[in-house]
Amino acid sequence: MELYYKSTRGHADHVTASSAILQGLAVDGGLFVPETFPVLDVSIEELAQMDYKQTAYEVMKLFLTDYTEEELKYCIDSAYDEKFDTDVIVPLVKADEAYFIELFHGKTIAFKDMALSILPFLMTTAARKNRIKNEIVILTATSGDTGKAALAGFADVPGTRIAVFYPKNGVSPVQERQMVTQKGDNTFVVGIHGNFDDAQTSVKQMFSDAELKKELDEAGFQFSSANSINIGRLVPQIVYYVFAYAQLVKNGEIEAGEKVNIDVPTGNFGNILAAYYAKRIGLPVAKLICASNKNKVLYDFFSTGVYDRNRDFYVTSSPSMDILISSNLERLIYQIGGCSAENDSKLMESLAKTGKYTITEEMREQLDGFYGNYATEEDTASAIRRLYEKTGYVIDTHTAVAEAIYEKYVAETGDTTKTLIASTASPFKFARSVMTAIEGDPGEMDEFALIDRLSQISGVKEPAAVTELRTAPVRHQNECDRDQMAAVIKNWLGIR
Ligand SMILES: *Cc1c(COP(=O)(O)O)cnc(C)c1O
Repeated sequence: MELYYKSTRGHADHVTASSAILQGLAVDGGLFVPETFPVLDVSIEELAQMDYKQTAYEVMKLFLTDYTEEELKYCIDSAYDEKFDTDVIVPLVKADEAYFIELFHGKTIAFKDMALSILPFLMTTAARKNRIKNEIVILTATSGDTGKAALAGFADVPGTRIAVFYPKNGVSPVQERQMVTQKGDNTFVVGIHGNFDDAQTSVKQMFSDAELKKELDEAGFQFSSANSINIGRLVPQIVYYVFAYAQLVKNGEIEAGEKVNIDVPTGNFGNILAAYYAKRIGLPVAKLICASNKNKVLYDFFSTGVYDRNRDFYVTSSPSMDILISSNLERLIYQIGGCSAENDSKLMESLAKTGKYTITEEMREQLDGFYGNYATEEDTASAIRRLYEKTGYVIDTHTAVAEAIYEKYVAETGDTTKTLIASTASPFKFARSVMTAIEGDPGEMDEFALIDRLSQISGVKEPAAVTELRTAPVRHQNECDRDQMAAVIKNWLGIR
């Protein structure tokens, strides 16, 4: 059966999956959502026998129905190969009762690789299918990890160019170095004077700027997105929840059909939304645990029904979650609002105008599958230290937010349902914060000395992605204000 996508705001045509991937954001500023939810058509027992690629095919074919079997398998095979440092692609590690889904074995050692390794193949296949002549310009706002993963995925991919905007003073040293050393003739990296929300809002404005769209088209370009607003990011993220669940069954940790909780360190609400979609297609999931850092706008939303971004913004040790406008929440709002584009548009308009919105009681009732909480900086550091001291396992700062919330959740509810925790980055990406949590203030030690020390205490070899950084030359030194972003892009593309 053919599955189509429509905009959460209702003023765009319904489109095929490949067209939604090409567009990124709908013309009315809404996000593409599937018109219905498909259902997994293989049994858990069968899934338990499958490797990552086979699982990916079974999940993705349900959502990307206008891709042929051959096309989809080509994309999957091209994405999940030696770029990953382990054959299983996604290892599952049990530590202190929870199961960590290690999503950081790709090229840039963060979970963004899971989707951004395949997105360039989905995108170029879509361009071919839809007979697109223009060069595709990927515009990306990043809180630190999407940027590098998108750059790595799209570097030197024919028919594409990629531009990344990151908050100049809002990412970790390793994250920044990863981006500014990026190779590839089609890559462009800019540090903006502002935070992630500034970058994301300006990028979204560029997408819905009809004048700019026309200028680009005349020059032979069109925009698309590598952010999780693109359905092509979301669909590949559903796969690892299904895979992790099947691994639990395979390893005899749970019975097929037994429900599990899924705990996700959350920023833009993309990763946890993928877990929600996994539940909607039939994965046995009890609670979805939404873990926030000190920027706890989502926690407040789950506890009050009011989404309010009018508040101080904090730079934390989990920078990829330093976000006050969680874009993908719109997809959930749409769903719990009875799939009403009118309802959704009203709330999003209110968000744009006043910075907040309030959902109805009926909508709130549909959130009972979610549990939200937040971790302070101290909670996060002590989660890293405690888990290390108890088990020897070292987690990064983002995963530590989820671990801290898992502890709070169990203490609060007594719920002992088996829990999967999305482990979203390698600790090597955030060595200073991680080592400070474990051993205290490292004083003068530089980033690479801390990385050496981390390797020593964890017994884990430094990932190749980090080794490369030790000698890679800086290739990008652009900076701009947020209101200059469109001009900077046009200049880069040689328009006017
Ligand atoms: C992006 C990111 C997150 C947040 O994921 P969302 O999909 O934006 O909610 C968490 N941890 C790390 C390491 C990330 O890179």
